[in-house]
Amino acid sequence: MLFKKIRMIFFIGLTLILSCAPAEEPAGKDGRLAVIATIFPLYDFARNIGGDRVSVTMLLPPGSDVHHYELKPNDIIRVSKADIFLFTSFDLEQWAYKIINAAAEKTNMLAVETGQGAFLLPLPDSPELDPGHSEGPPTNDPNHASKYDPHIWLDAANAQKMIDNIAAAFIIRDPKNSEVYKENAGRYKRRLTELDEKYRVSLSACKTKTVLHAGHWAFAYLANRYHLRYRSAYNSSADAEPSPQQILSLMEQVRAQKLRYIYYEDLAAPKLAGVIASETGVELLKLNNGHDVGKKDFQAGETFLSLMEKNLANLKKGMQCR
Ligand SMILES: [Zn+2]
Repeated sequence: MLFKKIRMIFFIGLTLILSCAPAEEPAGKDGRLAVIATIFPLYDFARNIGGDRVSVTMLLPPGSDVHHYELKPNDIIRVSKADIFLFTSFDLEQWAYKIINAAAEKTNMLAVETGQGAFLLPLPDSPELDPGHSEGPPTNDPNHASKYDPHIWLDAANAQKMIDNIAAAFIIRDPKNSEVYKENAGRYKRRLTELDEKYRVSLSACKTKTVLHAGHWAFAYLANRYHLRYRSAYNSSADAEPSPQQILSLMEQVRAQKLRYIYYEDLAAPKLAGVIASETGVELLKLNNGHDVGKKDFQAGETFLSLMEKNLANLKKGMQCR
């Protein structure tokens, strides 16, 4: 059974999954690699690494919620036409194995779990887990729920790992352009390193270390990397609405820590952020987690780096950094 094969390949530590058919002519237009990426960070990494040698599309429409995404029949058709399918992890896109199974019957598409080898943090309600250990592909249990925080790209070292994995896949599928992919990936990684350094310096001398986020649990990797105290209204993406007690507890924290700003996101409960702000008198600042880029931002040409720059500006303001 194919799924067993995937699992086996996964466990021997390879990043790339599925039939590796190297050195074939790419299926995309004009000999360009046709790449389909599930969500925005992967889409943007792939564009930067591939340059004009690849044609990249995003599987989930801008503004989609990846945590509750329901696969459409057309998604499988779109993926099966691609040379390379990029997804984050079986923790985030738990439906990826369905696509891989279905598309593999028709094509020699290369499926890449770009988060392979990334550092992992447990979700806040899974304190017994050690960071850094993946559970591997999901079982066929439809109720499979990951215990790991899937927002791995918000750790700069993880993002670099993902870029390496994507570049390696491009090289396997299109070896004649390997130098271009290596060079592009190297250049992009240097920009990420510069941004990481800017975060480290900018967030090192601030009045508060607390980032209170009235959205879903998405910024733990960022908080972990730059030693911030992170609190969100929802403990995980699968949470039901926060209870009145949880909301009151957030308001108490705002008052106790004399916060002047709290954060909101477009996807989860922007109204809740408004309620907390009006009750406590704080101002609202936006943080973008990378995966819920809206239609407007997408069409305006925002990039992963531009969104992270905006986040840094708002963190500096909210944490009152020098
Ligand atoms: Zn999320």
